[in-house]
Amino acid sequence: MDNGTALDKAAGVSTDFLAGLGLAGVLESTLGRLARPAVVPEVAPEAPAASGRVPLSQRDPQRLFTKGQKQTIFERDNYHCVRCTKGTTEPTPYTKGSKHLPTERVAGHKQAWSEGGRTTVENSQTECRGCSLRGTK
Ligand SMILES: [Zn+2]
Repeated sequence: MDNGTALDKAAGVSTDFLAGLGLAGVLESTLGRLARPAVVPEVAPEAPAASGRVPLSQRDPQRLFTKGQKQTIFERDNYHCVRCTKGTTEPTPYTKGSKHLPTERVAGHKQAWSEGGRTTVENSQTECRGCSLRGTK
């Protein structure tokens, strides 16, 4: 980066202006950081928190379970909601204005997709719509 001249100019002009306000030091330290990015210690701004939403770039590109995955998941969980343990009913096929029952089964993520959970059979569980819509865990 070789825009030191522009920065010096900006610093000169702005420092004169800000000196009266007692803010010149603040501006200089800010420009110093901008001009020397290599000196700034590496932090990991995209590191996922222990729990909580992660940036889109870290989420599984596949959000929805495939038909085949759902079949495997529902069979493995014996068609019961793992959260309330009740039996579930066949999902209503989507049509315009179709109504869904809270007992219908859906495939949910154990670790939420928005929190970095993968869309895999291992990270999935059968849930009734009632539990699924109630939020995580
Ligand atoms: Zn349930």
